[in-house]
Amino acid sequence: MIVEIVTTGTELLLGQITNTNAPYLACQMNKLGFNVLYQSTVGDNRERMMQVITTALSRADIVITSGGLGPTQGDITKEICAQAFNLKLYLHEPSNNRIKCFFSNRHAPMPESNLRQAMVPEGSVILINERGTAPGIILEKDNKVIINLPGPPHELEYMFEHSVIPYLQKRYGSQGTIVSRVLHTYGIGESALEEKIADLITTQTNPTIALLARPGEVIIRLTAKGSNESIAKQLIDELQLTIIPRISEYIFGFDDNNMETTVGQDLLNKKLSLALAESCTGGLITSRLTDIPGSSNYLCGSIVCYSNEVKIQHIGVDREIIREHGAVSQETAIAMATGIRQKFKTSLGVGVTGIAGPGGATSEKPVGLVYIAIDGPSGHRCYKHQFIGHRTEIKFRASQATLDMIRHYVHGLTLQEDI
Ligand code: ATP
Ligand code: MG
Repeated sequence: MIVEIVTTGTELLLGQITNTNAPYLACQMNKLGFNVLYQSTVGDNRERMMQVITTALSRADIVITSGGLGPTQGDITKEICAQAFNLKLYLHEPSNNRIKCFFSNRHAPMPESNLRQAMVPEGSVILINERGTAPGIILEKDNKVIINLPGPPHELEYMFEHSVIPYLQKRYGSQGTIVSRVLHTYGIGESALEEKIADLITTQTNPTIALLARPGEVIIRLTAKGSNESIAKQLIDELQLTIIPRISEYIFGFDDNNMETTVGQDLLNKKLSLALAESCTGGLITSRLTDIPGSSNYLCGSIVCYSNEVKIQHIGVDREIIREHGAVSQETAIAMATGIRQKFKTSLGVGVTGIAGPGGATSEKPVGLVYIAIDGPSGHRCYKHQFIGHRTEIKFRASQATLDMIRHYVHGLTLQEDI
């Protein structure tokens, strides 16, 4: 069954409100096994809304609209949809009474215009609105269905769960299910990643493969449709077995796992402790690690050493190193990593120093230059990065690179240490 979601409201087109109804409805319909192939957004304009509804009906079996069921002149969705099916409106007495009660219970006078909400197309199914006044409406004609839902998300979601799902299940039966899995990768660009699995993408049918670049990662989303969840999962497992050997070094997590969860789990598994000396990231890496419950099992502590004096006095970086090489240098990063490791007596020490911008750059040291060092049982390593973006993006990218470096270092360790 092909579905089109039509969100209505001029404020959506103006960018004044964020369209949360479309992703909500898409997610729900996909979960129920329907194929959401189109989404449209249209303002409160009769001509254009009629055009959008007519187009939607020409290419979808089910059209779900959101918004425009209210009492004002701008709320026209119901009328347009009735017109598209050539249906007249009549006063639906139960809805009329509900709306009257809604106002009398609140001891508020009912504006005459609210009665517009009780006008419904002939032959339609009426969905009671438990959270507001505008009833939802389902229209059917020639095997095409239009479902009109109210705009306010809490009204729409309640109505979808309590009235639309039971209707769909009764009307269409089981549509199977759609399952998605996300593979998170780091250290490879979107196009290079695509090249590695290009043959699989070209021949994809079920599951489908989608690549998406996000801040600090590129994700691969595998989506399978099956008659039940375990069949869909099995299809994904099989495809994953082909994909993983090709890109295993870049994959750092699945589904809800992010880099900090993965690193935390790795440190826990290897019984390693960690301390960080953070300069340009200002504590962001520590903050991300401490977002994970139980991080005290491996994270001992950190020092945000923004000034040279703090690097010297509290981490033990040699003043001469900073004088000779500068605070943003490989030598300083290594001294920070070894210094914090000694000070906190941890298995691993990490030092991060760089120029987050927009000021502070020189011709040799541009904005985005970051040195990240790690010291541990198998010696120290230091990596030079050149990140792009605004200050917060550079900080985030530096934190992501640091966590990935820890992950790689830990995987290279065979040593098991007690904290
Ligand atoms: P009402 O009876 O409140 O007027 P309605 O069904 O006529 O409801 P709209 O007038 O289109 O719906 O929208 C009412 C409010 O619902 C908007 O101001 C907005 O806050 C919210 N809303 C509408 N559409 C969306 C959407 N697609 N995503 C998120 N919020 C929305
Ligand atoms: Mg309205």
